[in-house]
Amino acid sequence: PRTPRNCQLLSVVVPMYNEAAGLNDLFQRLLPVLEALSVSFELICVDDGCTDDTVEMLRQWQAEGAPVTIVRLSRNFGKERALAAGLDRAVGEVVVPLDADLQDPPELIATLLAKWQEGYDMVVARRVSRPGDSQFKVQSARWFYRVMNRFSEIALPENAGDFRLMDRRVVDAIKALPERARFHKGLYAWIGYSTSYVDYERPARLRGVSKWSYWKLWNYALDGIFSFSTAPLRLWSYIGALTAFFGFFYAVYTIIRTLLLGIEVPGYASLLVLTLILNGFLLIGVGVIGEYIGRVFGEVKGRPLYLIDAIEQGPVNSLAAPESLPEKSVRAAAS
Ligand code: UDP
Ligand code: MG
Repeated sequence: PRTPRNCQLLSVVVPMYNEAAGLNDLFQRLLPVLEALSVSFELICVDDGCTDDTVEMLRQWQAEGAPVTIVRLSRNFGKERALAAGLDRAVGEVVVPLDADLQDPPELIATLLAKWQEGYDMVVARRVSRPGDSQFKVQSARWFYRVMNRFSEIALPENAGDFRLMDRRVVDAIKALPERARFHKGLYAWIGYSTSYVDYERPARLRGVSKWSYWKLWNYALDGIFSFSTAPLRLWSYIGALTAFFGFFYAVYTIIRTLLLGIEVPGYASLLVLTLILNGFLLIGVGVIGEYIGRVFGEVKGRPLYLIDAIEQGPVNSLAAPESLPEKSVRAAAS
């Protein structure tokens, strides 16, 4: 940690996909917390192709003077890309991604900010419990981290999600990473910089349902592994080598046996089993290679991560009384 520093503008980025049910709860809790920080702030809400009233409700809050900027994407791009869109728009020296369902308690932002002021570039909110999640989800998450940390080039901290506070240079570094496969957890870990942790209890989702089905989570996990590790490719080299090794010894054994005992005709069943198993191996191997080729294809096309339909800019921190702000931040907000 270096010398204490002051934050002039805090950006809170909230990706939203059909969050109308809990939106008022979110704002009623989040805005007072941010105002109490006596720091200028902006709230960047990314409309990730919402089909409910989320956008209308955001506009209402904006009309009432809440410092909300609505970034409307052209369709649903998924949380990771929606978050990327929000990060691209955020101009604060400090940026906090936040879920719209109040699973990331906004009160914690004060603690995160205090740590940043001590000099940490990234302050991660680490959940110590997840009462809202099923045992299966908790257990599968644990396995995922175990596999990931064993086989990838980066160390993913367990129980850390997107809820964290990032210094401007961390955000710039993340924005500079060109990959289209936005596995943010992995990107944060790859970036490095001085990191501190703050523990909290992760509550269950307040309203609505999680948009993450198990199938989506599974694919997300695969994304993580294939984007940050080439271990599956190496695994298949080993399986190939092992098969060839056994094949060689079996060949020697067969030759010797044939010389000593003559030719033995039966062997249909063993032949069939071997063919099936080996072809299975081959096909999985092709599938693994295909995963990487698919990713290369996705990157090579070079399409933008997301498309913006419109940006509805709101005021910066107009709810906070100017006299409660330090002089510098007022100027920052005005410019
Ligand atoms: N989200 C999004 N686009 C999507 C799915 C989710 O922007 O396609 C947002 C969602 O509105 C919420 C956050 O991502 O603010 C986390 O989503 P959710 O609560 O469904 O995920 P979980 O907490 O179960 O991981
Ligand atoms: Mg959630």
